[in-house]
Amino acid sequence: MSEANRYDIIIVGTGAGGGTLLHRLAPSGKRILVLERGDYVPREPDNWSPRAVNVERKYQTDEVWHDVDGRDLHPHTNYCVGGNTKFYGAALFRLRERDFGELRHHGGISPAWPIEYDDLEPYYTEAERLYRVHAMRGEDPTEPPASAPYAHPPVSHEPRIRVLHEDLSAQGLRPFHTPLGVMLDEARPRQSPCIRCPTCDGYPCLVSAKADAQILCVDPALAWDNVTLLTGTRATRLETDPSGREVAGVLARRNGGEERFRADVVVVSCGAINSAALLLRSANDRHPRGLANGSDMVGRNYMGHVNSVLMAVSKCPNPTVFQKSLSVNDFYFGSEDWDAPMGHISFVGKLDRETLSAGAPRLAPGFTLELMARHSLDFWMTSEDLPDPDNCVTLDRDGGIVLSYRPNNEEGHRRLTAQLKALLNGQRRCPHHGDSCHVGVFARSLFVGQRIPLAGVAHQNGTVRFGRDPSTSVLDPMCRAHEVDNLYVVDASFFPSSAAVNPALTVMANALRVGDHILERLGARSEPARIAPHSPGNDGLEPVARDARSPS
Ligand SMILES: Cc1cc2nc3c(=O)[nH]c(=O)nc-3n(C[C@H](O)[C@H](O)[C@H](O)COP(=O)(O)OP(=O)(O)OC[C@H]3O[C@@H](n4cnc5c(N)ncnc54)[C@H](O)[C@@H]3O)c2cc1C
Ligand code: SF4
Repeated sequence: MSEANRYDIIIVGTGAGGGTLLHRLAPSGKRILVLERGDYVPREPDNWSPRAVNVERKYQTDEVWHDVDGRDLHPHTNYCVGGNTKFYGAALFRLRERDFGELRHHGGISPAWPIEYDDLEPYYTEAERLYRVHAMRGEDPTEPPASAPYAHPPVSHEPRIRVLHEDLSAQGLRPFHTPLGVMLDEARPRQSPCIRCPTCDGYPCLVSAKADAQILCVDPALAWDNVTLLTGTRATRLETDPSGREVAGVLARRNGGEERFRADVVVVSCGAINSAALLLRSANDRHPRGLANGSDMVGRNYMGHVNSVLMAVSKCPNPTVFQKSLSVNDFYFGSEDWDAPMGHISFVGKLDRETLSAGAPRLAPGFTLELMARHSLDFWMTSEDLPDPDNCVTLDRDGGIVLSYRPNNEEGHRRLTAQLKALLNGQRRCPHHGDSCHVGVFARSLFVGQRIPLAGVAHQNGTVRFGRDPSTSVLDPMCRAHEVDNLYVVDASFFPSSAAVNPALTVMANALRVGDHILERLGARSEPARIAPHSPGNDGLEPVARDARSPS
């Protein structure tokens, strides 16, 4: 192998995990190679086109996976610089303190993590600053303790959402402002990078104002001359040395050929499904069931949350442009009459006729799709699914991905749905229509019943779980493979349980934590990295400089 292909660190994948890790490692001076199978999302008007994004699915992969019965799955996932953070809704939540312990659910036990909330807390604080989270401490009734206030004020509610906030408060709930990673400066609208548009959740940001891993981590890291990014480069296999204890080579498809790279430390961060698949594809004599898979846990315990979208349609219109500002966690751990966790209520981006046409809901009486879109509040509900070893990623004979999943722990979600319906039916404040303003709650029929289908893998996690016991986990508590000394995994696959809030901030915080460990292992400096001056991530909203080194 030529010296040109030897590095100190290889990171595979540039999403929430890989991108954030790169941010941490870039200023160390270590030679870092980043392999990303996708390319940059082009900046073009279609970025904000509901037809291009939601109907034509222009930016999603056209890869075909299969379910356990051999049916085609067209995964709703994106291969690009920044990974799925380019398309996410940027709702950036910490897990709750109790999510780190064992938690009894109606459907079984949510297992404890091998680290405690306090281990991650400083990194949550740092990740919130890095990803420009706008929110207010003390509002969310289940929020864990934090060592610092949010650096940015919450994103304000538009009038319809403010009314909903007041209505829910009047019913005894504690709705709160969703923590959001958008570079919005409401005090200085003319200078604000974010313009508060309707096409945020599920769309790339045309004006580069979403706090995603490309804008805030990868692009600034490329200002350091020790960092090399190869796009359009898909890692296909990891090879080990004869002992099986070290990754000795990373094979990748690039420009139609195969290349081989080598590094002292190899970090896999391809997303939970692709990371498991890569380890399974890397089976060899020393690792016959897949790399680092002596426990037989690689690919198992796939989780993706119990998710649904519910449209609440009223006779009064909902003219909200940016709808994601409100959340409800009052039922997260249960309620007075149900002693088990139910989950989290928030919003998706405002649905429009075009998007609805891709998965038309049952129509409200007297409404067209257009009218429904103009009159709906579009809720997103998340409940925890539990790890089940039979819910898993495996490979077919051609090395393609097979995703097997049987839903579990659904009763809490059903009850959460019922709670939301009751709350909406309990609203009596409409001055024009009184009690009869509320027409009903409708699921988009894109979903199975009210549920996101298997192809909706946005919240994928759990397939390469971390733990203390090598017989039941793949990674140790520092996300290093129990069986392979120089192999780490930092995407969402390390989760031993899925909790019921969105996963990305936890992936980011953990990547910073693992980054500190890798720097220590390599004898490098561990200060948080500075966002390079004049980089696209330097929006002037928040200085995060604490490092004396300068990028080239
Ligand atoms: C529409 C949508 C909305 C979402 N909204 C939210 C939200 O509001 N809040 C939240 O917390 N989460 C949200 N999520 C989920 C969030 O985006 C993910 O949890 C997060 O991106 C996971 O990070 P990751 O590092 O595990 O994987 P990813 O971000 O998916 O990154 C994986 C990277 O690896 C690359 N890759 C894959 N295989 C290979 C290979 N073999 N070789 C090289 N590169 C490879 C991919 O191209 C990608 O860049 C949303 C997701 C979607 C799709
Ligand atoms: S301008 Fe703001 S609201 Fe619109 S996509 Fe960008 S970050 Fe999201």
